[in-house]
Amino acid sequence: MILVSACLAGQSVRYDGRKSHAPQLWEILKDKPFLALCPELLGGLAVPRPPARFEGAGEGQEGKDLLAGKARLVTPDGQDVSRAFIKGAELVVAAALRAGVTHCYLKDRSPSCGFDPFGKNPGKGPRQGVLTALLEEHGLEITEIRAPAWPR
Ligand code: SF4
Repeated sequence: MILVSACLAGQSVRYDGRKSHAPQLWEILKDKPFLALCPELLGGLAVPRPPARFEGAGEGQEGKDLLAGKARLVTPDGQDVSRAFIKGAELVVAAALRAGVTHCYLKDRSPSCGFDPFGKNPGKGPRQGVLTALLEEHGLEITEIRAPAWPR
């Protein structure tokens, strides 16, 4: 079983109400069973929602620092949404383990799904999301999918 960021699988669940454009992933997933989930929605956040940024996190270990209580995620108006992000990540990991997921394809530069351990992606945003950090703790393999927002 494969875990996929829901916005990569055609669901309009991004913070801006859009989906992500990832035709390269459709080829990979063809004829394979997959589970498409959005941790931020499962954590109780809405669509659309304000973007959230890490505060106090080290580059490349943002998600791990949040889980360790060394950092937080805040919206532009200063609301701390860390709990919602952590809760959503925990729910996705639990579902992935129940479903027997072995590999994950996650959206780049997301505070939940981002995965760029070697800093190779020139895009802006966190290199490690909260969900990513938790999936890595459980030994699941992750591939980053670089995907812009679906054109309006
Ligand atoms: S990147 Fe992850 S958290 Fe963000 S919309 Fe896509 S599935 Fe949801």
